[in-house]
Amino acid sequence: MSKPIHQALTIALSKGRIFKETIPLLKAAGIEPLDDPETSRKLILDTTRDDVKIVIIRATDVPTYVQYGAADLGVTGKDVLMEHGGEGLYELLDLHIAKCKLMVAGFADQPLPTGTVHVATKFVNCARRYFSSQGRQAEIIKLYGSMELAPIVGLADCIVDVVDTGSTLKANGLVPLEPMFDVSSRLIVNKASLKTRHLPIKSMLRQIEAAVTVT
Ligand code: AMP
Repeated sequence: MSKPIHQALTIALSKGRIFKETIPLLKAAGIEPLDDPETSRKLILDTTRDDVKIVIIRATDVPTYVQYGAADLGVTGKDVLMEHGGEGLYELLDLHIAKCKLMVAGFADQPLPTGTVHVATKFVNCARRYFSSQGRQAEIIKLYGSMELAPIVGLADCIVDVVDTGSTLKANGLVPLEPMFDVSSRLIVNKASLKTRHLPIKSMLRQIEAAVTVT
């Protein structure tokens, strides 16, 4: 019999690349979802372990669910974690999946201004910290998507975004200018859950850790 959600150990995952690449790691801990979030509309997935459930939420919401204990564990990109700030949670493990880089990107032939740099991004906290740590003035313009458009239409001098192959930048006439930090997905845990559910979390962590391929 599957446990009700408040008794089960819950893991927050987002659909897409993180879900696909996390599933083999969870499988090593005997956890396989009974539904596919790409075809099912269910937000709570039962798994092959009756004490474990998976909740499907937006990538940027994963640290928030874990911070407040609405999920015990979660998998989230380092970019999302840095933007959130990490309050109320611990980063347990680098899963070495969904790798990319957070970058400043702009035009190859236009150096960034030495005065105030106009930066379009959804990573407002990361961008603010980066420019201020270098003593550079920056006006951060919050966008929710299609960042590459901002320099083209004159909304910003550059963007801060995650870059994998660089083909999205290239397709829009932009290039990577400054690497900020490397991104990969991390297993995170609610601080209180780590104390109250220490044993099941520790054994799950050991099994997942053994399945991680460091690349
Ligand atoms: P690319 O064209 O390969 O550089 O990929 C760039 C776009 O893919 C970015 O703007 C992101 O929206 C997305 N992307 C690539 N890798 C990741 C990742 N690891 N996490 C989140 N988004 C990613």
